Amino acid sequence: MTDYRMLIGGEWADAASGARFETVNPYTGKPWATIPRGAAADADRAVEAAYRALKSKEWGGLSATARGELMRKFADLVAAKSQYLAEIEVRDNGKLIAEMGAQLRYVPKVLHYFAGLADKIEGTVPPVENRGLFNFTRNEPLGVVVAITPWNSPLMLAVSKIAPALAAGCTVILKPSEFTSASTLEFAKLVEEAGFPAGVVNVVTGFGAEIGEALVSHPKVAKVTFTGGEPGGRRVNETAARDFKHVTLELGGKSPNIVFDDANMEDAVKGAISGIFAASGQTCIAGSRLLLQDGIHDEFLDRLVAFAGTAKLGDPLQLDTQVGPVTTPPQYEKILSYIDIAKKEGARCVLGGGPSELGGYFVQPTIFADVNNGMRIAREEVFGPVLSVIRFKDEEEAVEIANDTLYGLASGVWTQSLRRAFEVSSRIEAGTVWVNTYRAASFATPFGGYKRSGLGRENGMEAIRGYLQTKSVWINFGAEVPNPFIMRL
Ligand code: NAD
Repeated sequence: MTDYRMLIGGEWADAASGARFETVNPYTGKPWATIPRGAAADADRAVEAAYRALKSKEWGGLSATARGELMRKFADLVAAKSQYLAEIEVRDNGKLIAEMGAQLRYVPKVLHYFAGLADKIEGTVPPVENRGLFNFTRNEPLGVVVAITPWNSPLMLAVSKIAPALAAGCTVILKPSEFTSASTLEFAKLVEEAGFPAGVVNVVTGFGAEIGEALVSHPKVAKVTFTGGEPGGRRVNETAARDFKHVTLELGGKSPNIVFDDANMEDAVKGAISGIFAASGQTCIAGSRLLLQDGIHDEFLDRLVAFAGTAKLGDPLQLDTQVGPVTTPPQYEKILSYIDIAKKEGARCVLGGGPSELGGYFVQPTIFADVNNGMRIAREEVFGPVLSVIRFKDEEEAVEIANDTLYGLASGVWTQSLRRAFEVSSRIEAGTVWVNTYRAASFATPFGGYKRSGLGRENGMEAIRGYLQTKSVWINFGAEVPNPFIMRL
């Protein structure tokens, strides 16, 4: 068993209370490390440390170019440890090593991208008409940022928050999920090795309702960036609103993956599978509603069931495993309960439909046909390998069903018609539309949700704007001082 500690103000710390909890490997079901169970006192220490760092010469006074250099050094250290970090993530969340390895090779690229932006944050000189007065704008860091992440892609999601925050000159307190804290604590060791001044990046651990809430309600925090489920997101938004903190929320989805009659069927079958069975369906962008047009519905479904039925379930650390276990016991129970709900609602189970014979937290890849969009299985996020197949007759109906959801994170469109690709992608209410592909992503392009899937955007230039605030500065270089009793423009 490894006993981890938190990084607060450049020091390795236990929780003030001394409390710890175990982190469990979902494949073996056994605990393998202990994690400090932080609470309000630890949140306070971390925020104070981050606030001091923000105001310090060492960070607040550092040039933007030097900030970028530090971030690049950090990126290189992460790159050198990417396989090690990926294995830790697999041990904690049970996702495939092939996937976590790819994510960890991506993490340094995100750091490099934002490191490059650090010294390209420019102000403006607005063409004001006030004679003798000069006006310019500066983009300043928002301040102390709290970054809260879920268990499905811990470091990839952490870096999409801390990289733009650091490039902007903010300081950060990272709070990973209680189910997957270890990789973020390992990441913190590299923060120290890279030489960031104490308090610039802090990592605290514990439960959302304990340390999470304490961080979000702390008066010295300027911004909260949160990725997770809807209940947590709502709570964070409400708490942060009490003292007008800035908020970015990346929440859940019920994304439509629409296959039209004219699609390349082979590609679309693969797209449907990667949409829902990659990561055992535990991704916010899962294409969990598959919309099939009448003309291809039956043939497509047969091909899909045949292909999905070949999925190899097993040890996520083996490179040839295609579907791993579900990450947490509550998640496992939740998925099985939705399978029951779907059966009771009258959906037709054409693949899987229960726990796998492998035991543990394995759920069979499951496909329900004859789903209508009013059923709970089509409306609520399952976050597991459970696909709802919905039939539609034409483009109009496809768009209507696709948008008939509270969410709006992602979507897929499979067609060979250029007109339809443009038309449907413009009508879908979602932050991302993929045409003839699914899951493409880049640190250079904005990502985020419409409707209840979130607020704000991560990645790309839009992300860095979310960590800056604009100051307008007026300088009198010779204007006559006007009558002070009259307010003039
Ligand atoms: P969760 O909301 O239970 O937890 C996420 C994080 O929030 C954890 O660190 C948790 O401790 C913390 N938290 C929970 N309640 C809190 C509170 N009141 N105050 C402060 N912190 C709190 O989510 P999860 O189960 O870990 O992750 C699954 C969810 O995340 C899914 O709904 C999924 O769709 C979503 N997700 C979204 C994206 C995206 O980019 N949009 C990416 C991955 C996952």
